[in-house]
Amino acid sequence: MSAQRAERLATLAVEAQLDALLVSNLINLRYLTGFTGTNGLALVGPGIRSFMTDFRYVERAAEEVADFDRVRAPQGELAEAVIALLPARRPLRLGFDDAHVTVKNHARLAERLPERVELVPAAGLVERLRAVKDPAELERIGEAAKLADAAFAAVVEQGIAGRTEREVALALEDHMRHGGAEEPSFPSIVATGAHGALPHAEPRREPIPPGTLVVVDWGAKVDGYCSDCTRTVATGALDVEADEVYALVKRAQQAALEAVRPGPEGREVDVIAREMIEEAGHGERFGHGLGHGVGLEVHEGPRLAKSGAEPLRAGNVVTVEPGVYVPGSFGVRIEDLVVVTEDGTRVLSSVTKELMTVG
Ligand code: ZN
Ligand code: ZN
Repeated sequence: MSAQRAERLATLAVEAQLDALLVSNLINLRYLTGFTGTNGLALVGPGIRSFMTDFRYVERAAEEVADFDRVRAPQGELAEAVIALLPARRPLRLGFDDAHVTVKNHARLAERLPERVELVPAAGLVERLRAVKDPAELERIGEAAKLADAAFAAVVEQGIAGRTEREVALALEDHMRHGGAEEPSFPSIVATGAHGALPHAEPRREPIPPGTLVVVDWGAKVDGYCSDCTRTVATGALDVEADEVYALVKRAQQAALEAVRPGPEGREVDVIAREMIEEAGHGERFGHGLGHGVGLEVHEGPRLAKSGAEPLRAGNVVTVEPGVYVPGSFGVRIEDLVVVTEDGTRVLSSVTKELMTVG
């Protein structure tokens, strides 16, 4: 597995005219090598597969990192160890992840590198690979979605009106952990009424009243892989506007979902939901992108947003999550997690999108 990933990364590095690429971000490192510790570096290039860690992780690396030459270096001096492993070529272009390396670490590395080595910003190469999932990754994401859905069903069955947002969020997380999640993939959102108009509201210690909308956004993590889903439920009869907005968001979500397949750019899918919401007069109230990739991170590529210029590809896992937020009143968001397949999508979220009334 990691051998193929390293091979593909080396190809991308060559395409970017790099002689070698330094991988330092821990999630990228996990993806590339299998390493789950918290201090490591990898160097990848044509014929180069080196992995460095310190004494604390030597045994773990021996178990996890199969396809790389493993090098032990003093804690805090991994970058120095890289220098000894660089090919002799001059000049030598060494790519680094400018989206993650701190200015301080960059300066430190630049100071120690021989003059023949040029440090070249090369963020996003591993992320490009990560955006297309293999079957083993899809299985874990599917498992995370499944147990997150089961947790939601269990919480809904207990009722939510009268409990606080925090209690409901904790119950969700508890069910997910008991169901086999290593942890929630992000802090759950349970946001009632006007609070639901804040897209990233934190759960409060306030009881959920009857007759309101509640936005619930939650996900589980299984073997490092995330799920992400949102449902908006009612705690009783709603006023006409809330019913209408719910129906609008549901229609827009469905239309965008049906447009997901290999080929279109993320922004082309985004605009489908956006136009429907704009036409209904709520354009200003849909202030975020339509969706995002999900994998080892809950937010990764590709983007389904105005800035999403990447064409969707089979193997992408993305969310489709339009929302309408009416300030001072309520919010509605509906989010599915979907796999882009050769001919369309496979929806991983199984919870109904019909407006659910939960007492
Ligand atoms: Zn979400
Ligand atoms: Zn999301």
